[in-house]
Amino acid sequence: MDPLRRDIALCTRLLVDVGILEYSGHISSRLPSGDEFLIQPVDDVRSDLDPSRLLLVGLDCQVKEGEGRPPAETAIHAEIYKARPDVGAVAHFHHDQTTMFSMVKDRPLVPVKNHFVRWSSGVPVHQDASHISSVSQGLELARTLGRANAALLKGHGEVVVAENIKALFADVVHFVENAQALAFGNLLGEVIPLTERDLHDFEATFDREKHSRKLWAYYSVTAANSGRIPPEWLEDRLP
Ligand SMILES: [Zn+2]
Repeated sequence: MDPLRRDIALCTRLLVDVGILEYSGHISSRLPSGDEFLIQPVDDVRSDLDPSRLLLVGLDCQVKEGEGRPPAETAIHAEIYKARPDVGAVAHFHHDQTTMFSMVKDRPLVPVKNHFVRWSSGVPVHQDASHISSVSQGLELARTLGRANAALLKGHGEVVVAENIKALFADVVHFVENAQALAFGNLLGEVIPLTERDLHDFEATFDREKHSRKLWAYYSVTAANSGRIPPEWLEDRLP
């Protein structure tokens, strides 16, 4: 099995396991050629995604290989890949507790957990609340994202980008963890966000690649042991 296809399907199933994806949302990963990416068909069930069903799509959103239609919001992925050569994988999802930070006055999405260092330059809020169903809307979203590594889509959802699929999985988990912790903290009282210095000190000793492998191993082994993914998909157990 092609490892990239397996990893996209695995990432998708694991994000269902942790309650971030459900009946919608999608993950993509760019191919090494740079101008093509793999993404699931629009209606395939996320919790049972089959690697062989993934569609090969060009940056013009046209399907090059595979059966079925890509998601209506495929332009999100294509336009980000065009605008950001550093991005190798994109996640778009609709997580209510996170999305609410685009809708609540005077409660910005600030860092309260150290892994939020990934988004220390800020999380822009895209003001178009509709489906991103056209190339021009995708382009506008890519402009909103700019050099940031995540954006909120007002009243709609989130986009998170990373260099590869395993890093993307860890980033999405941490992005949502921070939003959930912050939402809870706001209920308790006045939140004191982590400072730039706090985040800098954390990053100084943080091994991003090693940490991504740790999360990938934990969630994939747990899912395999519960029968939610085929055991032969495991090849990244930590030594
Ligand atoms: Zn959406």
